[in-house]
Amino acid sequence: MMCYICQSLKVKKLFDFDAAASYLCGECRAVYSNARVNTYELYDRKYFVDNYESIRTQQFKKSEKIIKWIKQYKEKGSLLDYGCGSGIFLKAAVENGYNKCAGADVSSDALAAAGKNLEDKHIDLIHLKTNNTDKCGQLKNKFDIITFVDSIAHIPDVRDVFSNLIQYSLHQKGIVYIRTPNINFWYILYARALSLLLPKKHIKLLFFIPKRCILFNKLAMKKFLSSFGLSITAVYFERDYIRRSDNLSLKQKIGSFVFQDISRYLNPNRSMSIIAKRNDAG
Ligand SMILES: [Zn+2]
Repeated sequence: MMCYICQSLKVKKLFDFDAAASYLCGECRAVYSNARVNTYELYDRKYFVDNYESIRTQQFKKSEKIIKWIKQYKEKGSLLDYGCGSGIFLKAAVENGYNKCAGADVSSDALAAAGKNLEDKHIDLIHLKTNNTDKCGQLKNKFDIITFVDSIAHIPDVRDVFSNLIQYSLHQKGIVYIRTPNINFWYILYARALSLLLPKKHIKLLFFIPKRCILFNKLAMKKFLSSFGLSITAVYFERDYIRRSDNLSLKQKIGSFVFQDISRYLNPNRSMSIIAKRNDAG
């Protein structure tokens, strides 16, 4: 079997869950999960309410920070947010000076929420059809910036999608921004050790199965981008914030220690942000 990210042949099966089989590449050390369910159907109204709408203010502040960082590499221009969810990032992009912005998402629930959040902003919202690989044929313009804010790991056929986007929807001197989980080898090793002791349903959570298909690290990202003629201009690592309630039971406290605290200790930079551009962009 060939690595989906770097095309190396050094791939081993890591876990076999009901919802997906997970593989580890010995070369780039990315984890790729082949879902046995249609993951595109998982992003319903509830998913966005639970994960994004409930923390809209934090999301907006976070988005503004990201925009400020992107501005150092491309101060103005048009921006496509691929996997735009409920549109909070786009709102920050427009309010901070980007124009001709567009958002694309597979979820009609997400786009309905985005429509409300972006009511007066004149942003193109594109509903991506998931029944063919040409998910970019619906995009008519080229953009100066294409962003994937915590979306790239969710795209099962990411090579096709990414290749089309770079080829048809990114200006020659355009840049790509990607924010995605950064999973190191210690984290994977820890999950493997836990799998000897605990049922699979717990281990599955450590790999965000089945929603996230690819868990990158910097090397895997570098190899992935280079296969499309792109290279990394800047990298920024972050620790993600913890949402924890105060009144946990003892069982919940143990759970949060085993699944969150230890894995955060082993893999402190849980999230990475990347700016990339074409090798021949000058
Ligand atoms: Zn690989």
